[in-house]
Amino acid sequence: MSFLKEIQRRRTFGIISHPDAGKTTLTEKLLLFGGAIQEAGAVKSNKIKKGATSDFMEIERQRGISVATSVLAFEYNGTKINILDTPGHKDFAEDTFRTLTAVDSVIVVIDVAKGVEEQTEKLVEVCRMRNIPMIVFINKLDREGKDAFDLLDEVEQKLGLKVAPLSFPIGMGYEFKGIYNIWEKNVNLFSGDSRKNIEETIEISDLSSPELDELIGEKSANTLREEIELVEGIYPEFNKTDYLEGNQQPVFFGSALNNFGVRELLDCFVEIAPKPRAKQSEERLVKPDEKKFTGFVFKIHANMDPNHRNRLAFVKIVSGEFKRNTPYLHVRNNKKLKFSSPNAFFAEKKEIVDISYPGDIVGLQDTGSFKIGDTLTEGEILNYKGVPSFSPEHFRYINNADPMKSKQLFKGIDQLMDEGVAQLFTLELNGRKVIGTVGALQYEVIQYRLEHEYGAKCTYENLNVHKACWVDPEDPKSDEYKEFLRVKQRFLAKDKQGQLVFLSDSPFSLQMTQQKYPSVKLHFTSEFE
Ligand code: GDP
Repeated sequence: MSFLKEIQRRRTFGIISHPDAGKTTLTEKLLLFGGAIQEAGAVKSNKIKKGATSDFMEIERQRGISVATSVLAFEYNGTKINILDTPGHKDFAEDTFRTLTAVDSVIVVIDVAKGVEEQTEKLVEVCRMRNIPMIVFINKLDREGKDAFDLLDEVEQKLGLKVAPLSFPIGMGYEFKGIYNIWEKNVNLFSGDSRKNIEETIEISDLSSPELDELIGEKSANTLREEIELVEGIYPEFNKTDYLEGNQQPVFFGSALNNFGVRELLDCFVEIAPKPRAKQSEERLVKPDEKKFTGFVFKIHANMDPNHRNRLAFVKIVSGEFKRNTPYLHVRNNKKLKFSSPNAFFAEKKEIVDISYPGDIVGLQDTGSFKIGDTLTEGEILNYKGVPSFSPEHFRYINNADPMKSKQLFKGIDQLMDEGVAQLFTLELNGRKVIGTVGALQYEVIQYRLEHEYGAKCTYENLNVHKACWVDPEDPKSDEYKEFLRVKQRFLAKDKQGQLVFLSDSPFSLQMTQQKYPSVKLHFTSEFE
């Protein structure tokens, strides 16, 4: 197959949802359609379960699963589909944000009864800011839930999306009879007794057909006719360009558990979802069909076995072909690296591959040279943008609890930060180290891993910080900036890249600082124009 065809047939996406909405179940059903797995239950949930085991064990278990489910790839009707795993747990939101820099589109799963939930809101906002094309799947239609129109409203209001329903439910819960497929213009009936099997479709191409009355009863048929008329009246017709530009989001209804509405979603997805997209680097826009290989690291996974300290760096291929045993330039280190055993991912396994294409993810064995955000090229000096750090929510001093092991501690902190587990800030005033995290759970992860993988011990000490803001002076030589540096010295720190950060202790002091030093811009993310 030609290089261009290989690009055309790839779809790389992520499924985002609030925990429990049905992401794992949907992933599994998609893999079943692709023939990539044979039975339900094969895909493990990456959820953090509380209770049964200690949190530490749970973290390790989760980490094991998350290696296995990082990338799930399969073929469907000639399309190569790469699903990138996105943890739903809020303490791992940063992981998900970073993974979203490597997807070309997303599917948003919403629970019909719960509607739009907190994590969905946050993740969709990130996708919206980046104009990532989104398809919405409203799940669990076999249960009593919210009215379909109310839900569509909620999706528009809370998520700021412009929806175009491509399917519509016929009833719900016990009354759930099936869905009308607006995209394919047919009716697909849900049969309660074959709930566990791949559904059989009964197709009716015309809504006014009396056959519909026979199948679902006159009352339901008439309701459906009215509702579809309403849908067509209220919502715009699906427009592929709008979808691809992030200005419109098609919506599907179904039940992942019962494998209902999933084929419709997949068929439409394969047809409309974007092939690998061009990506902006600091230097220029890079197109996937460029001959020369470029890619970037969006995730790093440490080996769970402390005796094998190597890590797996996940690289998204942006352009060209990635080949085994070929020297590539690690731009940040200005070093050529060769990879003898790059991993490609399949449903449940990884294999060494000779060649990979734009849209694909390769896993590279790494002994510590990669950081999240690093760029690889054939020689061009290129730095991909878009793997920013966000202000953490929690801040604690980290102290060395075993003076004999300070070397191990620093090495451990260094590597865990490269992996993106948390962010390190070093105070300007006294050099003390502060760890910033998205969730409190990360502190346990760090402490546990420092001890088990690096033989180092640490303690934490609370620190009152509200937000970390990256400092961006309009004029670094101005008196105003000099005064800012002097007056705010005890709130200033450097991040791991050496960028200056202002650690504000309250929303109020942040506001006061902004008013007093208007020419010193303060950003909540590390990447700004
Ligand atoms: P995740 O946290 O988003 O990955 O959610 P899971 O896929 O693990 O699903 C959470 C729970 O919802 C599980 O108990 C599933 O069996 C259940 N579930 C998923 N899809 C459906 C559905 O369509 N109908 C019903 N009734 N339950 C579902």
